[in-house]
Amino acid sequence: MSENCTHDCSSCGETCSERENDFRAPLNQYSSVKKVIGIVSGKGGVGKSLVTSLLASEMQKKRHKTAILDADITGPSIPKAFGITEKATGCEFGILPAVSKGGIDIMSINLLLEDDTEPVVWRGPVIAGTVKQFWSDVFWNDEEYMFVDMPPGTGDVPLTVFQSLPVDGIIIVTSPQELVSMIVSKAVKMAKLMDIPILGLVENMSYINCPDCGKQIKIFGESHVEEIAKEYNIKVLDKIPIDPDIASACDKGEIEYLDKTLVPNAVDAILN
Ligand code: ADP
Repeated sequence: MSENCTHDCSSCGETCSERENDFRAPLNQYSSVKKVIGIVSGKGGVGKSLVTSLLASEMQKKRHKTAILDADITGPSIPKAFGITEKATGCEFGILPAVSKGGIDIMSINLLLEDDTEPVVWRGPVIAGTVKQFWSDVFWNDEEYMFVDMPPGTGDVPLTVFQSLPVDGIIIVTSPQELVSMIVSKAVKMAKLMDIPILGLVENMSYINCPDCGKQIKIFGESHVEEIAKEYNIKVLDKIPIDPDIASACDKGEIEYLDKTLVPNAVDAILN
């Protein structure tokens, strides 16, 4: 135990061996999950769920058994992107995740709500408890890679979720209009606190390709993501353009069929 430990892990920043075991939810006894990757962002709407969906789709296309745990309980957009409308079912081993057309196992609060247009107005501990149940009560059948779409921000809820799941690495999603420096610095501090490696950054909405001349137009101005990443010794893995095909694929529930490879370096970083 660290000499600075306050014996209250919820407020103490020290990394003790005890901390690891304190909040971890047990994995369902019939499940097997080899690697857990958390996708984080500073706020909602920057494309965290999109990047989660792309990572899972591109990983599954590489013939790795892939799952998504949608921990964004108050803003679940994963089922929509994959066109999943059915509700969760169960078997003797636990709750069964929905399976996308491409074979990705998916668990989201929308699979449990009777009416998924109803807002989830739960307090932090209930949200964190739900995510723990997604880990413990769902039957995750032989998953090689699980992508966790984290609650946005770096506050109490994402922190508790981090403490509950054995996250092996995180990918930070930013967009050029965000206060990237602050967000990266917060994410880095949170990852350090949790002792989780940062695999790198993905910048979404980096530019638009002009449909006439093909030139990249940086509508939010020059991005400073490279400088900031350098400052924190993190890699910028991929830059995703604003693309009507992406928006349309998400709206139609066909993100898996998007005929573009948008996060190749992030997938490689996870595989290596
Ligand atoms: P977050 O998870 O960060 O809240 P989402 O991934 O749900 O954000 O993205 C919000 C919306 O923006 C989605 O409807 C998605 O289709 C759209 N979107 C995100 N990134 C892009 C992009 N690069 N090009 C076009 N549409 C995008």
